Amino acid sequence: MDAPWPTSRTRFAGVIGWPVEHSLSPSMHNAAFREMGLDWAYLAFPIHPDHLVPAVTGLFRAGCGGLSVTIPHKQAVLECCDEVTPAVQAIGAANTLVPLEDGRLRGDNTDAEGFLRALDEAAPVELDGATVLMIGAGGAARAIAFALAGRGARVRVANRTADRAAALGEPVGMTRDEVERAAADAVLVVNATSLGMGSDEVPPELPLDALGPGTVAYDIVYRQEPTPWLRAAGARGARTVDGLGMLLHQGAAAFAQWTGTEPPLDAMRAGLVAR
Ligand code: NAP
Repeated sequence: MDAPWPTSRTRFAGVIGWPVEHSLSPSMHNAAFREMGLDWAYLAFPIHPDHLVPAVTGLFRAGCGGLSVTIPHKQAVLECCDEVTPAVQAIGAANTLVPLEDGRLRGDNTDAEGFLRALDEAAPVELDGATVLMIGAGGAARAIAFALAGRGARVRVANRTADRAAALGEPVGMTRDEVERAAADAVLVVNATSLGMGSDEVPPELPLDALGPGTVAYDIVYRQEPTPWLRAAGARGARTVDGLGMLLHQGAAAFAQWTGTEPPLDAMRAGLVAR
């Protein structure tokens, strides 16, 4: 018979969000703990925005080894942090909380690193001096704009709410023609909106005609199968990158900080897909 588990020595980590029950992070991180033989458990904590600060404080006082932060808490959680990384300062949001040895709490944002690592892995492209078109200007887009700027890319942004686009790069209009024209000049086109999450149709707001060999299409929306936009881009010859890779690598960067060990990427990927 298996030994009883968890025990009084088991450490815990988790994800906070509202809602959070659809998160793939528990299957990814628990697969990593198992693979590394670490006596840790990763849980999902649904935390109402009104209770965020006392809940986070209480979790860390109870010995929590690390938290992932998802919608809608990525900005509000900064109030809980004693220090933040330069990425958080630039992006204005944290997706990872790390308890330090002296009891203080560090906020980090691993979305930018996750975005770049997944791109480098699936479809490496020279970004220095290259033009990138990003559709979307929400929280994830802020992290991506920071990542792309760090690689020297010229970032053009199309967004439904135009003034949000201007805050992240050179604004581009959102009409079909404008988006297609901008995509034709780009080596990389990123969907950083939530368009395509639950539909089997290619969202009409996303460019397609301009995509082909020589273009990378990167959809940060994550689904078990490629999104309709990615499938259509791939059929036109574009190289494609899906959102699971970004999810994997942002989680891996968090795991490394919590445990001080190298993240087991294959096991984490298998955990994501199994879910
Ligand atoms: P967010 O801050 O709410 O931003 C949503 C973005 O989508 C905004 O640009 C918004 O435009 C746009 N949008 C939403 N509905 C739209 C519609 N019907 N038509 C046109 N534009 C629309 O959300 P977020 O945190 O950035 O997340 C965006 C997506 O990325 C989500 O699907 C999320 O799951 C995914 N994500 C993936 C990863 C990953 O690791 N793969 C990480 C983070 C997020 P407006 O500005 O006009 O509202």
